[in-house]
Amino acid sequence: MTPIGVGPQQAGRNLDPWFDSYAARTAGLSASEVRALFAVASRPEVVSLAGGMPFVEALPEELIESAFRTMMSEHGAEALQYGGGQGIPQIREMILEVMALEGITDASADDIVTTTGSQHALDLVAKLFLDPGDVVLAESPSYVGAIGTFRSYQADVVHVDIDADGLDPDALSATITRLRAEGRHIKFLYTVANFNNPSAITMSLERRRQILEICRREHILILEDNPYGLLYFDEPAPPAIRSLDADGVIYLGSFSKILSPGLRVGYVLAPHAIREKLILAVESSILSPSTFNQWVVTEYLRQSDWQEQIEEYRGVYRERRDAMDEALREHLPQFTWTKPGGGFFTWLQLSEDLDSKQMLPRAVTELVAYTPGTAFFADGRGHHEMRLSFCFPTPDRIRTGVRRLANVINGELEL
Ligand code: PMP
Repeated sequence: MTPIGVGPQQAGRNLDPWFDSYAARTAGLSASEVRALFAVASRPEVVSLAGGMPFVEALPEELIESAFRTMMSEHGAEALQYGGGQGIPQIREMILEVMALEGITDASADDIVTTTGSQHALDLVAKLFLDPGDVVLAESPSYVGAIGTFRSYQADVVHVDIDADGLDPDALSATITRLRAEGRHIKFLYTVANFNNPSAITMSLERRRQILEICRREHILILEDNPYGLLYFDEPAPPAIRSLDADGVIYLGSFSKILSPGLRVGYVLAPHAIREKLILAVESSILSPSTFNQWVVTEYLRQSDWQEQIEEYRGVYRERRDAMDEALREHLPQFTWTKPGGGFFTWLQLSEDLDSKQMLPRAVTELVAYTPGTAFFADGRGHHEMRLSFCFPTPDRIRTGVRRLANVINGELEL
């Protein structure tokens, strides 16, 4: 606690002798609300509807063991060595097959840069484009990890309204006009168009075309982040925005959700000039992404029926989505929520008299955790919403969690 009469600056100096040495941009670095929650919510008695951990138990270990063995016997020396900043060509060839399932068929392996997960790609793109005070446009709400990264480069995230079809084109145009009139520099539009984290909304094809049209007209780059596209439950998502435009879109993909996040392998598909800068940025930050892990993923993709494995994941998450939806209908029918067509999350809208952030300690005492909506806004909104994830807990645990959550909410309403 800060002693009375001592300001935060002085308190910081007392705690950390290097307090005055940090770069100004570290002011934008703060522990995400999600991260603080992980510690509490990882206790086994707490049903965590908070994190976004994939259910990797659904991945047969022998598939990875076998990929690992081939990798060591056939590419061991290379896998244990430094690699190039762009990533190994063999994985980039395989990535073309993955992206084809999202409608991207005009790319070449040379347009791809392998990264250490797509979070790394977000950081690289931010590093290339963002100066202090620049603006990034993003859906309202938007992925907490991206907001944090953009802020760590001292950029401002400005949210654009969405509806059931995704970003609202009129709101996008009006926001651009307003910001430009204020003399602001808009660097790119960040979008999670498929099964958004956290809103679960998918942008319709019509909207993708409209948004693209506006961005082309206004000369605004699109950063399309698509880790969940192949995890659909009912019908496939529309083709990626990148499939409609090769010049104005940077596309991010990841093996974290369709394979395993522990491998930390993601990728960027970018127009040539940007790709060149990305490779330089990779080299300056990590020299090269892990050759070892890229080879494990390459061999996995070569020798297993990876599309069948994605189908397995879809089945697991579909069942959990259904459990979540049914439990909400049974226990919290007075509120509204999105029934996700894919991905990991449900977005629950509470009433104005409930504050999800304030309510969280009480929820944890009652052994259920969630992520307050405030984590997903850069502008202080989100108090009456929460993100519920259904990816990790079993259907039974999800039902228990929602029942406990309903008790907490009803208790709050009675206060
Ligand atoms: N983007 C979005 C929308 C995400 O939900 C996540 C993970 N939660 C990431 C990027 C980062 O994923 P990774 O670095 O594991 O590829």
